[in-house]
Amino acid sequence: MKQQKQRLTLVLFFLVLSLGSAQNLPVVFESVEGRSEIRPGEVVVLQVFGTKYEKIEVALYDSSNRVLTRVPGYVRETEGLGYAFLPIPNTINAGYYRIDVILNVLGGQKSTIHRIIRVSPRTFPEERITLTRELTNVRTANPSLRARESEILGQVLFTPNPKNWFWTDRFISPLENIRRTADYGARRLFLYDDGTSATSIHGGRDYGGPIGTPVMAPGAGRVVFSGYRQVTGWTIVLEHLPGIFTLYYHLDSLVTTIGQVVAQGEKIGELGSTGLATGPHLHWEARVLIDTVDPEFFIQVPLLDNTYRIFYNGEIQ
Ligand SMILES: [Zn+2]
Repeated sequence: MKQQKQRLTLVLFFLVLSLGSAQNLPVVFESVEGRSEIRPGEVVVLQVFGTKYEKIEVALYDSSNRVLTRVPGYVRETEGLGYAFLPIPNTINAGYYRIDVILNVLGGQKSTIHRIIRVSPRTFPEERITLTRELTNVRTANPSLRARESEILGQVLFTPNPKNWFWTDRFISPLENIRRTADYGARRLFLYDDGTSATSIHGGRDYGGPIGTPVMAPGAGRVVFSGYRQVTGWTIVLEHLPGIFTLYYHLDSLVTTIGQVVAQGEKIGELGSTGLATGPHLHWEARVLIDTVDPEFFIQVPLLDNTYRIFYNGEIQ
């Protein structure tokens, strides 16, 4: 009798599962640790286990089936696990979105797993920044130099290195004392000295502090960019995991070189006011490939979060 009851429960369970996929009901992607919601500017860290893969890709779709983001994942052959970091754009509205995990299993089979995720509302502050003639020039002069600089940085961010596997835990803050002066995702209006203006979205967090304050690596990583840029001043980029970068702008000086591997807490530079800065501060940014995400998210959540796990048993789901 007990066995029959168990079997009935199991049949009902599979019935619910198949109904869910057949009618495309909004079955919310249940997380292991109860965090089934995510905010714009955060990251869904997916772990797929159960078989061996050649390739993993993830994509985020809105309710009209439009692709919002599509990023490659990574395979850890040693652990038989597939990982993918899906950045949730800071421009999307609260609501339900679909995640597709596209798997190329060893041997050629291709399969797509669908999950629905709920994005919570998040409001971003608005800021007006009045720029002097000198700072207006920093932001607008030499367009061809700025284009070349952004192309060089883009090449770094679009070329994740599978060997850069240095940090899976939580980040620590890059400064010992944190005084936030601007939030991630702030909607900015720059007022130029000639009366014109321009808008942008703040891609990182700003922390004020005295010039010369040591800036530390939030987690181990490799220095993949180190140099001067017109708008961001003395700049460093670290890669902690393939495609997971942190960026440091407006530094006064750099103490690292490209290719160097740094430990968590190691000094990488000094806080400054170089480039487009209205005062001494560190601009700290995190990126999943080219997309900016809230860097403080990874202080709360480990890079390889166990929250979103998918067991893939070879069935098309
Ligand atoms: Zn900033």
